[in-house]
Amino acid sequence: MSDELYRLVYYSRNQLETETETGDFEAQVADILARSRHNNQRDDITGALLFNAGCFAQVLEGPLGNVEAAFERIQQDERHGEVSLLTLEPIAARSFPNWAMGFVGERADTAERFARVGLESGFDPSRLSGDHIHTVLKDLVIEEEATAA
Ligand code: FAD
Repeated sequence: MSDELYRLVYYSRNQLETETETGDFEAQVADILARSRHNNQRDDITGALLFNAGCFAQVLEGPLGNVEAAFERIQQDERHGEVSLLTLEPIAARSFPNWAMGFVGERADTAERFARVGLESGFDPSRLSGDHIHTVLKDLVIEEEATAA
């Protein structure tokens, strides 16, 4: 299996229960993140996940076999649907070296920017560019890191 680093970017429709009164929506996202971070650390995968307006966008980077295996599991997950692969390409270096799975989507300005990504494409995943999502996520994670520091 090749050790060459690859980046995968996809976009999907969120199918989490948003209308429960128990407020367990956040718990469901926390669940996804906890499992992702655990598995990704094990599999030498880094990346970031963005959620807003009923959609997920995610960047996964790592050895090709591990990234493909993670994406295979992710595609089967019923917590989202219409999973659209946007990019799978070799990369020289990771964009999210410090993140087993960074998460952005809680801050209002972040939410607004992702809404813009969606609007520009008419919320049509087939018209969204993986490069665009990658750039937006990278900028947002850098901002989050600066805020946290
Ligand atoms: P387990 O966690 O033991 O899960 C076993 C099965 O149960 C899987 O089929 C899983 O899909 C399903 N499952 C578990 N919890 C729930 C639940 N609360 N509701 C419905 N079904 C459930 N995984 C990664 O490893 N890396 C990632 O970066 C990653 N990103 C994700 C991003 C999104 C938007 C989503 C929705 C999921 C993501 N996942 C990610 C989770 C992934 O889809 C699998 O659930 C996970 O990889 C399976 O981990 P596991 O083999 O340890 O099995």
